[in-house]
Amino acid sequence: MTQTRRFSRRLTRRDVMKSAAAAAALLPMPALAQGAASRVVVIGGGFAGASCARALKALDARINVTLVEASRTFTACPFSNLVIAGMRELSKQQFGYDKVAAAGVTMAFTTASAVDPQAKSVTLADGNRLAYDRLVLAPGIDIRWDGLPGYDEAAANVMPHAWKAGEQTTLLRRQLESMEDGGLVVISAPANPFRCPPGPYERASLIAYYLKTKKPKSKLIVLDAKDAFSKQRLFQNAWKELYPNLEWVSLSSGGKVTSVEPASKTVVTDFSRHQAAVANIIPPQKAGHIADLAQVADRSGWCPVDAMTFESKQRPNIHVIGDAAIMGAMPKSAFSANAQAKVCAAAVAKLLAGEKPVEPRLINTCYSVVAPDYGITVAGAYRPKDGVLVDAEGGGVSPIDAPASTRAAEAKYADGWFNTITTEVFG
Ligand SMILES: Cc1cc2nc3c(=O)[nH]c(=O)nc-3n(C[C@H](O)[C@H](O)[C@H](O)COP(=O)(O)OP(=O)(O)OC[C@H]3O[C@@H](n4cnc5c(N)ncnc54)[C@H](O)[C@@H]3O)c2cc1C
Repeated sequence: MTQTRRFSRRLTRRDVMKSAAAAAALLPMPALAQGAASRVVVIGGGFAGASCARALKALDARINVTLVEASRTFTACPFSNLVIAGMRELSKQQFGYDKVAAAGVTMAFTTASAVDPQAKSVTLADGNRLAYDRLVLAPGIDIRWDGLPGYDEAAANVMPHAWKAGEQTTLLRRQLESMEDGGLVVISAPANPFRCPPGPYERASLIAYYLKTKKPKSKLIVLDAKDAFSKQRLFQNAWKELYPNLEWVSLSSGGKVTSVEPASKTVVTDFSRHQAAVANIIPPQKAGHIADLAQVADRSGWCPVDAMTFESKQRPNIHVIGDAAIMGAMPKSAFSANAQAKVCAAAVAKLLAGEKPVEPRLINTCYSVVAPDYGITVAGAYRPKDGVLVDAEGGGVSPIDAPASTRAAEAKYADGWFNTITTEVFG
């Protein structure tokens, strides 16, 4: 690391918001253990990236941390299924970065458009460049637009995926609201791996709740490219009890969607064609595009990383966290992204100081809301083994035969979890 590396051109005032603390951090630095102030650039200000940037500053205020984020407002996916079902407003999902900046992180509100792993620099959409000693990539997911015949960006305006929260979430909600009672809603769920393994089934539950309470003559079919899914017994028990109009079609029963026809909102499998009033296509996914540009994604589309430090197995000095990374047994969730961010920050701080990172233990908990007063949970613990994260002792799911009071309590815990994590990351 050197003290002389600088942004190759200054960022414009409009693009860069600096807190007083961040501005102070740009003044001459006291030497770190290895002799010079270090630069870390984090790309992506979601649950992974914003958490990592803050954790790095908290660990060592002398590290110059720049967070590159395309949008000034972050729209969270967790709880966005409640927005789709009309149980919550999108504004409650939205967060700004003032507190992240106040924690000493330099915000660059622009898109990172290239990474040069040899020169250790990031190019921004406006042409500015940022030099780094360590780069953390946390870009979340992109849709594989070539992953499902017929499904392209234009098709997503007719058959929304709503797998990135924001306009797509609102579009799906509006389509449900304007659908006639008696209409057919189709959800297509992808093969593993994808963002939020229980997400399609939470969505199915809440759309079924909406239909049951607002459009009871309607029907919901979930066409699945899998035979098994997260919290399956819990979801299926709840569906049996609450939602007789919800049908789940597994891979072996012909559920895999092979193409879509947006003009007629038709969803096609090897054995059937479903003309939907509302079609929610959750397509195959991959790491956010910048991972390709940084040459850290492999042929699977995701980024293999070392399980101790989350450093890319393909490019040194670049770490990948959150949904974009292959994390072995650990699922792609906001909780995981936040946990990985803190482990990564600790490892990066150690590496910059010339020290050995500590072997981590990680935990994930994922709540799903099945109805307003009905929540279920899965928890897992993870540790590194042979370069990947494997299951560690601990973890499990909600009891299968829990009373209604437990389900109601878990729905409340879900709410509390969302408030806590978003306060920690953005508040
Ligand atoms: C419907 C749904 C429900 C979910 N429910 C839950 C839940 O209950 N609990 C849970 O734990 N998880 C849940 N998840 C999963 C959770 O949303 C993701 O796992 C989490 O957002 C991953 O965090 P991330 O930081 O990796 O990506 P993101 O949160 O998507 O953040 C990525 C950020 O990177 C930015 N970015 C990308 N590329 C660039 C670039 N080139 N330049 C600048 N910025 C860039 C984007 O603008 C974005 O802000 C849910 C997901 C969905 C879709």
